[in-house]
Formats: sequence, C-alpha cells, structure tokens
Amino acid sequence: MIILEQKPYEEILKSLEGEEKVFLVGCTLCATTCRVGGEDELKEMQEKLEKEGKKITGGVVLEAACQAIEVKKKFREKKSEIEDADSLLVLACGGGAQSVRENAERVKIKKLVHPGLNTLFQGEVTRGGHFEERCSLCGECVLEQTGTICPITRCTKGLLNGPCGGSSKGKCEVDQERDCAWDLIYKRLEEIGQLDKMKEIREAKNYSKLMKPRSLVLGR
Ligand code: SF4
Ligand code: SF4
Repeated sequence: MIILEQKPYEEILKSLEGEEKVFLVGCTLCATTCRVGGEDELKEMQEKLEKEGKKITGGVVLEAACQAIEVKKKFREKKSEIEDADSLLVLACGGGAQSVRENAERVKIKKLVHPGLNTLFQGEVTRGGHFEERCSLCGECVLEQTGTICPITRCTKGLLNGPCGGSSKGKCEVDQERDCAWDLIYKRLEEIGQLDKMKEIREAKNYSKLMKPRSLVLGR
C-alpha cells in the first residue's frame, strides 16, 4: 500500500488562501489505513476548516481515488456540491490527487485541486499504525535470489551484491538501529538451504525500467 501523512495544517490553510468554499475528497484504501483520508479525517478536517470560516460544500470518500471510473461516477453524483465549491481538497496520495483533477475535468468540472497529504513510500503494515518500506518498485524483482528480502530497499546502500563489510552484530554500519539487510538475507538463505545464492553475482539492474512516467497496458 501507499504510505501517507497529512501535510502540516498551516500548509493546507495556505493552499486554501482566498477560497471560501471547499469540497473534501478522501480515499478508502491507503489514506484510510494511514488514518489521514478516511471518513473520520474528513470530518475532522471539516470541523477545523469551518473554525477558520470556510464552508464545506460536501465531501466524498472514494473507494479508490486512483481509479478513473470510480472518480467520474462519484463526481457525477456529487456534481452540484463540487460545482458550489471554489476548490477540492484531496486527502489521498499524489496519484489520487492527480486522478481527481483529471477525472473532474472529464466530467466537465473545472476546479482547483489541492493535495492535503504527502505521499511517502510503498510499504507494509507491520502492525496497527506501523508502516515499513519493503519495495522500491524497481521493476526488476530480485527477491528470488535474496530469500525474499529486498536489498534495494532494505540495505541502506541499496547493494545488489552485499554485504558491504561494515555491518556489526547484524546491524547496519550506516544506522545501528537497523538490521543489516544482507545479514538478514544470509540468515534466510541459510535457513532455506540456498546459501549458494550468496555466491551468485547479480548483474547491474536495468535502470531504464525506472524511467518515468511508467505505464503498463494489459494484453500487449
Ligand atoms: S527487488 Fe526490491 S524494489 Fe525491486 S521489485 Fe523486488 S522488492 Fe521491489
Ligand atoms: S551494513 Fe548491511 S544494510 Fe548497511 S549498507 Fe552495509 S550491507 Fe547494506
């Protein structure tokens, strides 16, 4: 999932400067799990903005702000509330905020769209309220060779052929609070009887796969 945090409230207020009426948009997926863009957070944001003298014309928590069909359907249903607002404040990821702007225009709604969240990383929910980055979306997964532990993301230096030689007692030389990813990889490969993979030289990755913007069309 995408890990998100709310922008500082002062930054949000500044983005809404000169605007009186606002329509709020949240998202049931990552933004709700991160407790920054679900029903509760929209209500909280409404109360705070109303104290500043803003009028909230309405709001919607989209099932997925990044899905064009869903955004267009909900915006058609809420068109009058959205039309009544000066702008939309989006409590969803950066992709969701852009999808909201693009798809609002597709249903003939032209409004300013303000992002209310910072998009941090793709992560795993390790326990309630705790999120850890596990994958950097490199486009060429090497987990098969590394005991299902990502060296690109979890090794501080992103080493494909580790360890770097600086780890001590299983901790990373750059950050003693963190486990050395290559120590974890070694132990995991040993556990599953695949230690020979430590001797394999992993070729440099094809970083052209990281060229942005990336897209994928199914069926080709
Ligand atoms: S190698 Fe790491 S960053 Fe790349 S796809 Fe696999 S888990 Fe993600
Ligand atoms: S100590 Fe381990 S995690 Fe840290 S940079 Fe070296 S190999 Fe990577």
